Amino acid sequence: MNSKIKNKNIILRADLNVPLTNSIDGIKISDKKRINAMLPTLNWLINNDPNRIIIISHLSRPDGTYDAKLSLEPIYLYLKNMSYDIKFIPYKPRFQDFFNINGTNKIYLLDNIRFYKEELNCDKFFCECLSALGDVFVNDAFGTMHRKHSSMVGINVQIKFYGLLVRKELEMFNLILKNKDNKKICAVIGGSKVSDKIKLLENLSYKIDYLIIGGGMAFTFKKVLENYEIGNSLFDENGSKLVNKIINMCKKNNVKVVLPIDFVVNNNFSDVGKIHVTRNIKSGYMGLDIGPESVKLFNETINKSDIVVWNGPMGVFEMDVFSKGSIGLLDNICSQNIISIIGGGDTAHLVEKYNYQKKVTFVSTGGGASLKLLEQGHL
Ligand code: AMP
Repeated sequence: MNSKIKNKNIILRADLNVPLTNSIDGIKISDKKRINAMLPTLNWLINNDPNRIIIISHLSRPDGTYDAKLSLEPIYLYLKNMSYDIKFIPYKPRFQDFFNINGTNKIYLLDNIRFYKEELNCDKFFCECLSALGDVFVNDAFGTMHRKHSSMVGINVQIKFYGLLVRKELEMFNLILKNKDNKKICAVIGGSKVSDKIKLLENLSYKIDYLIIGGGMAFTFKKVLENYEIGNSLFDENGSKLVNKIINMCKKNNVKVVLPIDFVVNNNFSDVGKIHVTRNIKSGYMGLDIGPESVKLFNETINKSDIVVWNGPMGVFEMDVFSKGSIGLLDNICSQNIISIIGGGDTAHLVEKYNYQKKVTFVSTGGGASLKLLEQGHL
C-alpha cells in the first residue's frame, strides 16, 4: 500500500476530452479511448486505498460558460456502468458551491472545469478552492499539459506526482529527447504547414540522425531547394522563408534530410479525377501523397534507425487512395525491430484508421502536447 495515497483525498486531473455525438437516445461518447487511457491510474489509486478521489477534466472549449452539450455526465454514466463507486458533481453557477463536495462515494467526477472562466486565467481564489479539494495532486492529463490552466498548474498541495499515462508519455518521448543509449533516430515529419512545424524541426535537429519530410509540407521544401515544379500542390509562403534555415541547422548537426522523389497527383482535391503517380508534376495537378519510389527511399532510411518518431501524415490519408504512402512506411516500421513513437492528432488518427495502434510501439494521447514537448524538450 502506498502511504502517499492511503486514506488521503486525491485530486486527479485527467484528460477526458472525448468526442460526443447527439443521437435519439441522448448524447453518446463516440470514442472512449481517452477515458480508457486514464483507467490504469484510477485503478492504481483505488488499489492504494485513498479516502476519496476527485476527478477533474475539461471537455472541448466552452470558454468559461456553461453548455449542457459539453457536460461530463455521459462520462460519469460510462464509469458508473463499469461499477465504479462514483458520484457526479454537476455545474453550479458559483464555483465555491461546485467545490463543496459531500458524500460517501470513493470517486467524484466534477463537471467540465472549463465552464468556469477562472480555470483559464489561473484565478487565485479558484486555485485555492481547487487546492482545498485534496491532499495529493495526481496529474494524468497529458493532452492538456501544455496549457497553463488552474487545474493544471494552480493546485498547491504538498504531494504531487504524475499519473501512469503521463509517465508513459514522458518515458517514450524522453527516448528521443534524452537518447541515453545513443540510438539512431529518424524523424518522419509530414502534414500540411512548414511554419507550424518549424520549432519542432529546430529542436529535433539537435536530437536526430535522419529527417524524412513528406506530406503537403514537402512541396515547399522541393520548390525552394530544387526549384521543383509543384503545380497546384500546397505551398506555404511563410514557411518557405524558413526552409534554408532548417536545412542549414540539419547540416550543422549532421542530420541527413530526405525528401520525396515521386508523388500521387490529381487534377483536383478529391479522390476522383486523373489520379496517377509521377516524378514530374504537370501544371493543373497537385500532389496528394508520396509515390512508391519515395516510400522505398524513405524506408531505406528508416531501416538504418533504431527509433522513429512520426508527426504528420505523408498524404491526404482521409481519402483512402492517398493513404498508401503513409501505410507503406507503417508496414515497414511495424515489420522491423524499430521503436515507433507516433505523435497524437492527425498521425494518431491515421494509425487508428488503418488499425496500426497495436503494431506500433506507442501512440501519444496528446497532439498539441506531444508537439510542444518535442519543440521545447519539456512541458
Ligand atoms: P498537420 O496538422 O500539419 O499535421 O496536417 C495534417 C493534414 O495534412 C492532414 O489532414 C492531411 O490530409 C494533410 N496533408 C497531408 N499531405 C498533404 C498533401 N500532399 N496535400 C495537402 N494536404 C496534405
